[in-house]
Amino acid sequence: AEPFIPRGAHTGETVSQFIRRRLGQEVLDTAMDAFVSGTLASDPDLAEAQSVLPRLTALEQRYGSLTLGMFINKVVKRRHANTADTFSFSGGMEQLALALADTPGITLRTGVQANRILQQHGGWSVRGSIGGQPTQTWTEHLVLGTPADTSSQLLEDTDSTLSRLLAGIEYAPVGVLHLGMKSSNIRQQLDGTGFLVAKHNQLTFNGNLWMSTMFPHRAPPGKALLSSYVGGVRHPDQLQQTDEELTDNILRSLRPLMKITGEPDFVRIRRHAKGLPLYHGQYRARLAQIASHTNALPGLQLCANYIGGVSIRERIFQGRMTAHAIAVQLQRELAARGRQRLLTTSH
Ligand SMILES: Cc1cc2nc3c(=O)[nH]c(=O)nc-3n(C[C@H](O)[C@H](O)[C@H](O)COP(=O)(O)OP(=O)(O)OC[C@H]3O[C@@H](n4cnc5c(N)ncnc54)[C@H](O)[C@@H]3O)c2cc1C
Repeated sequence: AEPFIPRGAHTGETVSQFIRRRLGQEVLDTAMDAFVSGTLASDPDLAEAQSVLPRLTALEQRYGSLTLGMFINKVVKRRHANTADTFSFSGGMEQLALALADTPGITLRTGVQANRILQQHGGWSVRGSIGGQPTQTWTEHLVLGTPADTSSQLLEDTDSTLSRLLAGIEYAPVGVLHLGMKSSNIRQQLDGTGFLVAKHNQLTFNGNLWMSTMFPHRAPPGKALLSSYVGGVRHPDQLQQTDEELTDNILRSLRPLMKITGEPDFVRIRRHAKGLPLYHGQYRARLAQIASHTNALPGLQLCANYIGGVSIRERIFQGRMTAHAIAVQLQRELAARGRQRLLTTSH
């Protein structure tokens, strides 16, 4: 019946409202709730549908139906598909940064903490410190890839409204508990990617990924790595627990679900107080205001996970888009300077 439901989005429509309207309460409760809390640390009752599910909401706008849109896209995509759905880096996430740093023409300076940026001499002056010593650099084009609260502080002197808009972006705390154990201690067959937790499951974590099945190099032969995601908007207090409490509580939930016996021989916990930005409220309207202020500041670009998606795949895509936008701008500037020189010499 979905294709026959009329279009009906309104500004700021939440994920819950959108999914309930198009696909019904059951899809929301069993699938979308777990996706939004498990992968985005968010809450479908608060997250804006157009910001969190841009492709799905666009299908409704374009085709009037998600089912019809997905069918058409699948047929078209089959002809163009060339990317693997899941990817990882064999040496961990740092491989991505190291590969970028090795790119010819790139000069990387690490350990610099920026604390102020100023519009100066037709470009941007970045002030900060390295090893406690002040440092300063000037550039024509500046990309701020820092989290929203840091960018807000950096831009305080430049545009107080932009700074306020950025400061209003909320973040959720996220923690990850990695448990390594003998595969023989887990009777649940690890033949998938893991599971996400919906509200009605009444568990205190948001999901459990079977890392060693998804990426075999993540655990030695005969061992399995299970990673549980904790916190988010739904369970921020869970991160207040000590390492021992967190491990005990999650293991207690996992034992019956995964038929685990024995103890883990590897435990690692990572806590991120501001783990992921939350696309809550009228988020697109906020981003539109941010864009209009940024566009009035030539040479400045904002490129971080509070714009255009939080996944690494989306970050790589947005990074390329930003680089392309700067390249186009530079070409225009060069062409304009060339024209100017021609005009000057012909006079
Ligand atoms: C626990 C967790 C698990 C995740 N798992 C996945 C996953 O499995 N798959 C996936 O696709 N995504 C995942 N994500 C999301 C993804 O990792 C992030 O959204 C993404 O890395 C953010 O990229 P970014 O460029 O916006 O910010 P970041 O990669 O955080 O980069 C921001 C940079 O700014 C620097 N910085 C901050 N302040 C300053 C300052 N004052 N001066 C100079 N530098 C500064 C920081 O040091 C940092 O290097 C996960 C996120 C979390 C928290």
